[in-house]
Amino acid sequence: MQSAHQPNAPLHCPRCAYLLAGTESDAASRGDPRGTCPECGLDVAWAELRDTRGDPPWFAESRNARRPLAWRACATALRTMRPFRFWSAVTMQIPLRPRAIAVYLLVVAAAAHAVAVTGRTWMNIERRQQWYSTTPTVADHAWAALMPASIVWGESIWSWTTRRNEGPDDRWTTRTVATAVALAECACTMGFDENDMGKFTGAGGFQARGRAPRLLDPAAAARLASAAVVPLAAPALVLLLPFSMRRARVRPVHLLRATLYSTALLPPLLAIAVWGTHHGHRFMLGAPTLRGRLEPHIVTLAAIALASVWMTAICTRYLRLPNAIGVAAACTAIAGLLSLGAAATHFGVL
Ligand SMILES: [Zn+2]
Repeated sequence: MQSAHQPNAPLHCPRCAYLLAGTESDAASRGDPRGTCPECGLDVAWAELRDTRGDPPWFAESRNARRPLAWRACATALRTMRPFRFWSAVTMQIPLRPRAIAVYLLVVAAAAHAVAVTGRTWMNIERRQQWYSTTPTVADHAWAALMPASIVWGESIWSWTTRRNEGPDDRWTTRTVATAVALAECACTMGFDENDMGKFTGAGGFQARGRAPRLLDPAAAARLASAAVVPLAAPALVLLLPFSMRRARVRPVHLLRATLYSTALLPPLLAIAVWGTHHGHRFMLGAPTLRGRLEPHIVTLAAIALASVWMTAICTRYLRLPNAIGVAAACTAIAGLLSLGAAATHFGVL
């Protein structure tokens, strides 16, 4: 645990790591509570640099934390929804803590998973509306209530497992056990694949295998993959701009942090990708009108819109760059072009 005050440690510029000891003693002789880094021009308040109590207590990497890390990781993920507040509270003097970031990434992954499961459940509800008007069985109703995201119906699993276990040396107990095991496995994996479903055991019974279906349609996954390039590449592009390299001298570790927290943009983009793929006609490929040509890239366009706000918050509030809005716009635009290129390569149109 680090102490709240480090009165004697030599101070470094949080943005460029330049040693500020001389600057601080000059400022102290003048009685000035603030100073400017002679290397990168960052305006610093000496008290803030020395005090770790200014770390937001909800932040995953906070040095001023009282709550458990899992709680803070969830709070951090929620607060990314307000990017300007988020990047004002998170400061460059907070050291990177890989373990805290790993837990934060798990929270984001769980949120993305929840989005995908919700999408599949919603599609099932629409499919089932049609199907309920015919003859749903008790098994179907029970299965739909128990596993709303399952891609197979209860009756299919039931009839398939019982049918496959019937035979000349069939025993009632073997069949029941095999069916129960199949249902339990399908409950765990949400899915069931008739083509790759198990093997006959030597005893004449059938050993069923549940199988996790692909939660995302390949088209939704491809759209998300190309759109994700925008938030994940934009922070790193700051490093490539000659301006930020020569004048602001941003340490790459800050851009690494910005990239890692940019994963917060992926669950909303996934939601758009799932929605767009489900309503596939909305994103018709190859339509001759301008709207038709843009539609396949709707997830990328949403990513550019979200990332431009997100990057502006990073450049103005976190990196505190001069000309921050221009840097944010340039990085988002380049990342957007990379993403559109990736999407065009995949879908064959631009
Ligand atoms: Zn500096």
